[in-house]
Amino acid sequence: MDLLDSIVIGAGQAGLSSSYHLRRLGIPHLVLDADDAPGGAWQHRWDALTMQDVHGVAELPGSVPPPRTSARANTAVPATFAAYEREHELPVRRPVHVDRVTDEDGILVVHAAEGTWRARTLVNATGTWTQPFLPHYPGMETFLGEQFHTVDYPGPEHFRGRRVLVVGGGASAVQFLGALAPIADVLWATRRPPVWRTDDFTPEAGAAAVALVEQRVARGLAPQSVVSVTGLMLRPQEQEAARRGVYDARRPMFQRIEPDGVRWADGSFERVDAILWATGFRPAIGHLAPLHLRSALGGIQLDHDGRGTTAVKDPRIQLVGYGPSASTIGANRAGRTAARGVQQYLRTPAPALDATA
Ligand SMILES: Cc1cc2nc3c(=O)[nH]c(=O)nc-3n(C[C@H](O)[C@H](O)[C@H](O)COP(=O)(O)OP(=O)(O)OC[C@H]3O[C@@H](n4cnc5c(N)ncnc54)[C@H](O)[C@@H]3O)c2cc1C
Repeated sequence: MDLLDSIVIGAGQAGLSSSYHLRRLGIPHLVLDADDAPGGAWQHRWDALTMQDVHGVAELPGSVPPPRTSARANTAVPATFAAYEREHELPVRRPVHVDRVTDEDGILVVHAAEGTWRARTLVNATGTWTQPFLPHYPGMETFLGEQFHTVDYPGPEHFRGRRVLVVGGGASAVQFLGALAPIADVLWATRRPPVWRTDDFTPEAGAAAVALVEQRVARGLAPQSVVSVTGLMLRPQEQEAARRGVYDARRPMFQRIEPDGVRWADGSFERVDAILWATGFRPAIGHLAPLHLRSALGGIQLDHDGRGTTAVKDPRIQLVGYGPSASTIGANRAGRTAARGVQQYLRTPAPALDATA
């Protein structure tokens, strides 16, 4: 089995950016991606999501951003990624679902049903889409209506004329409410009061918000989503829902789920036909468990006070699209940083063997 200088796991924005920069640095590598086709998580977004609805997809390095048209995001972004992979001749192999990465005598061994690969370094770019987070509430399994998570959102038409409870305080919940309010009877519940952006969102304010996620990653805490610190805003698509008072009528989380609806701690009850859990995602890093990268606090500590991409516990491992770089613009930058981190590791002389040992 050949020994590669680097393996990138994942071919979304973060993985492609990393591969682009590794190529520029002349570092032989392979990109292993679990999906059948290019596009990362974008190919799995719901059909009703258009390029005008997305918050903004940054251009991949050395490229132009996908156009903001009424085209479906789940076809437009994948088409851009496919063209990018071809143009830059990125060495992507798919479908390869990596089950685990182990350390065998100082060599990283990447295991998948499709094969086994050995490498000196690893860039992990597996995103969050495959790890939807669904909180558990008592009585959840007794509910007779439908339950969806963001990953299987069937689009607004499915809910026409029905009573829908949207759960979650992030950008997806705000967007679902905006789309559903004109055609359905909607309710909103969040764990914490939503944080709205009240002033103009300047690049400085954005950087300050991302710095909060960096601080968590620097301490080895599990990262929170960038949106949770940048705050929420209402776009033109959400104005109709705002006029209907949907965002003002937000309620705290209910205490339990019953067959026909949800009940709050004060005894109040709302009947609902469907619950839409817009409760976010967690980093898809289970395959890295054998490397023991997690800190006692549950997250993976990254270097440069959380601004870097190198795992503090193992300088062979880079994490991109993780924590502060979990946005398309952040993923781009992280790809460059990771490629440099790989280069630096490969240039570092191996420690001399202790002859007395
Ligand atoms: C609904 C939604 C809308 C969003 N809109 C925006 C937006 O408008 N702008 C923005 O900047 N960000 C947005 N984001 C965040 C966005 O997902 C990230 O910015 C970015 O697209 C993530 O890129 P990524 O490369 O890290 O992950 P992904 O795009 O998820 O790519 C990960 C890749 O890794 C592969 N993979 C996963 N596990 C394995 C494994 N074990 N083995 C092999 N391959 C694996 C997957 O197949 C996938 O191809 C949104 C997120 C969500 C959920």
